Amino acid sequence: MIDLSLSVGSLKGVGTEVAKKLARLGIYTIGDLIGHFPRRYEDYSKIVPIRAMKAGPVTFHATIEHVASRNARAKRLTITEAVLSDGTGTVKAIWFNQPYMARTLKVGQEVFISGRLEFRNNDLALQSPSIEPPSDLPKDTARIIPIYPETDGLSSKQLRGLILPLMTRLDGLPETLPPPITESAKLLDRVSAIREIHFPTGPTRLERARHRLAYEELFFLILSSLVIKHEIKTESAPAIMFKVEVAEALKAQLGFELTEAQRKAAWEILQDLMRDEPMNRLLEGDVGSGKTVVAAMAITMALANGKQAALMVPTEILARQHFATLTRLLKPLGYPVQLLVGSQKKSEKVVGKEAAATTDPALIIGTHALLTKDVDFGNLGLVIIDEQHRFGVGQRQLLKTKAGYLPHLLSMTATPIPRSLQLTVYGDLDVSVIDQLPPGRQPVVTKVVRGKTARTSMYESIDAEIALGHQVFVVCPLIDDSPELAAKSATSEADRLRKEQFRHRRIATIHGKMPAAEKQEVMNQFVAGAIDILVATTVIEVGVDVPNATVMLVEDAERFGLAALHQLRGRVGRGQDQALCFLASNSRGETTMERLGALERTTDGFRLAQIDLEMRGPGQIYGLRQHGDLDLEFADHADTRLVSAVRTAALEFLRDPRAMLQYAYVTDRINRLKAVTSLD
Ligand code: ADP
Ligand code: MG
Repeated sequence: MIDLSLSVGSLKGVGTEVAKKLARLGIYTIGDLIGHFPRRYEDYSKIVPIRAMKAGPVTFHATIEHVASRNARAKRLTITEAVLSDGTGTVKAIWFNQPYMARTLKVGQEVFISGRLEFRNNDLALQSPSIEPPSDLPKDTARIIPIYPETDGLSSKQLRGLILPLMTRLDGLPETLPPPITESAKLLDRVSAIREIHFPTGPTRLERARHRLAYEELFFLILSSLVIKHEIKTESAPAIMFKVEVAEALKAQLGFELTEAQRKAAWEILQDLMRDEPMNRLLEGDVGSGKTVVAAMAITMALANGKQAALMVPTEILARQHFATLTRLLKPLGYPVQLLVGSQKKSEKVVGKEAAATTDPALIIGTHALLTKDVDFGNLGLVIIDEQHRFGVGQRQLLKTKAGYLPHLLSMTATPIPRSLQLTVYGDLDVSVIDQLPPGRQPVVTKVVRGKTARTSMYESIDAEIALGHQVFVVCPLIDDSPELAAKSATSEADRLRKEQFRHRRIATIHGKMPAAEKQEVMNQFVAGAIDILVATTVIEVGVDVPNATVMLVEDAERFGLAALHQLRGRVGRGQDQALCFLASNSRGETTMERLGALERTTDGFRLAQIDLEMRGPGQIYGLRQHGDLDLEFADHADTRLVSAVRTAALEFLRDPRAMLQYAYVTDRINRLKAVTSLD
């Protein structure tokens, strides 16, 4: 049997040069080569007589009548011409700069020829067709031809030359799907699927091969999320009982009525908490939909049950903001709220840590690092993570170590997860959705700004807003993934604005390279209204709530994903006044126009996530680590029918989780996937 782990160098025809080129395609082993699947195909399977041929792709079976090579005068160009006939007619074929063609082609030889028939000097001729002796296993002619992802100096033809001989050596290669699955779903076996995908024997068989490979991708994605779900369900967590008087007391603090959607989401969460197995729920709601108060309801219930709660957020600024909001809500009910962040004084940290270490009910608020820091929890019942899609495997493990059991988990995000992803990568989570904004919100008016004139009139509108007493965010992107450069771009943009358009306005900068205390000071001033324009990097992307800010200007907007832009836009329009969002971009690429245009047309985060998913794939949007196992080559995330069918099969397969253990390759693959879909 073929050894997939052998290096490609062990193959005939692969020397150091070819090996280097293969490496550029990520191909190091024979297994990689077999896994280098065609990007598309050209159908040259239909053999036609020469007389019946029309312009376009053709294949025929002919004899070489004549071969001649000559050098073109003007340039250093070798032209090889051959005349081919099959008894019904003759046709000319031409190759440029392929002098070896003249040596390989022999008059009287019988050949298969595939290529494009094109008009040349009023005559139909073949330009650089593929040609090979007739055989049962043709490589470049007389079949559906695979076209591979190529690299400089390594063509599909050469790749076919390397891959085709491997196809006869695949017998005995193990199946990677459990037999009950291949049987019930009537899937092609693995070896046949690999052979068909490289060298299809017909369109129907090719389709079956694709289906099999798509099925396999989805099966393992879905199975791994279901396994995680199952594992969490077998843990036990302290039940947190619903107390109606506590819920009423919290509501009395709000100063507004919960929306119907908030009520429903809160109730789903509270029901989970009453079980003695850990909740693992995602609360999804567009920016400004009011996730914080729903979290507050769960937190209050944990505290009223004598438990501690931890709330983790991505930035200190957001931690302090939540600290202010939740202190205002919970203090009157008699519950302590503690902040625990890096920039605090040592003495403040000690107080926070002590509060966590006791068994007294308290809410501890910190950054995502809260868990990894040396903080002990005495009595942790509920952990909430804001602006993150889920808890990673490592985070859950840490929590279990810290608390002695796995507490109830709630993650909150403004990035909606399309249904198909919910069933695949996020299948471990229960999901609650807040699909409604609090009453009275006006949608943010969004404009894409291109060119000088548009920029001038944008600055005029911005100045008019400031004249009304409103405030402005200007966001500069992270260039080249370098925080230093991003800081620089924000700083220099602020300088430019101070010197040019906004000499008379108060301008400040905030970026990730500033010390936390300094950032906080700038934020405080902005909240207090002492700054008109805050030039920032994406540190303000998540969570910040300043209702008086009515303008968001994003520079080089094409550098951001739609979800990120939607998040940024969500920083404005949080008060009663009409808000504006300007997306400045000099890029005129078609996809850029389309993506930014989508933001002009809709404020529906769900639609935008769907568009982003279709245009960029899931890796980018959901922060899932770029990893081969997550790249769906054959399956389409949007194919909800296949996704549902595979999910049903995976659920059935998991009915007896121990049965899974008999397939070593299944557990292997699941463990790998569990690691890559985690977000620690
Ligand atoms: P997000 O879902 O983006 O985290 P927040 O929880 O920060 O949203 O809420 C956004 C703003 O809306 C806050 O100022 C909050 O007080 C307010 N808010 C939340 N729920 C309601 C409601 N039901 N009615 C009115 N205002 C609300
Ligand atoms: Mg929020």
